[in-house]
Amino acid sequence: MITRIYYICFLLTFVLQCTTIGFHEKKIREGMEFGDESRFRVCLITEPDITKEEISDLFTAWNHELKYYNLKAEPILLEVMERPGFWGTDILGYLMDRQLTKDCDRLLYLKGRTWGDITFEVLTLGLFVGVGVKLEVQGAVEGYTNTRGYIKAKYISTIQMLFTSPNSTLIHEGYHLLGCGHQLFMKDCYERIRDVKLLLTDPSRDPQFFPVITTSGKKILTRPEYLTYPNSE
Ligand SMILES: [Zn+2]
Repeated sequence: MITRIYYICFLLTFVLQCTTIGFHEKKIREGMEFGDESRFRVCLITEPDITKEEISDLFTAWNHELKYYNLKAEPILLEVMERPGFWGTDILGYLMDRQLTKDCDRLLYLKGRTWGDITFEVLTLGLFVGVGVKLEVQGAVEGYTNTRGYIKAKYISTIQMLFTSPNSTLIHEGYHLLGCGHQLFMKDCYERIRDVKLLLTDPSRDPQFFPVITTSGKKILTRPEYLTYPNSE
């Protein structure tokens, strides 16, 4: 029993300190050159209970993080809609069927909190405490082009806020939207972001699209077409 408690404490400590996708390495980051400031447009599909203030707070937090790389994310509200399905995979599937329109570099779905979610949270609370934390249930980005994803944008219960918050979820998924995977230390991710910014000068890039390199290393220089198979991170 005692071992198990230590194990949970270890998980708690780890998760609390590692709210992004790896530990920052300040010296390495500051020694790197990220070029001029660049902006990318993030088109939003939100559920009806997400407010403009919440969107503004989310982007303030994300842009605070993006300053390290001379990057800025600009939110563009595309649509307010009811959730296309209960599970995260339903949302990802829906996003993959949507074409990125010409004003969008990325597509982000902001999931709210319904009575169905609250019931589900209560039912899974025991499981949650028993086995630790499933990090990715708070959001996901598809791994084919790293251009579309969703986050859970509303939390109310304190148990959720103890582990994560909408801001830290957006920062986490935001790194995936720039092509980063998961790592213990952030060096690889810094290099990925630098390389993505270097693609801005690639002559074969669509000048109306902010490029990305997928987690598996594929360069995406033009706005991606429809996707078919789910593969998330
Ligand atoms: Zn992730």
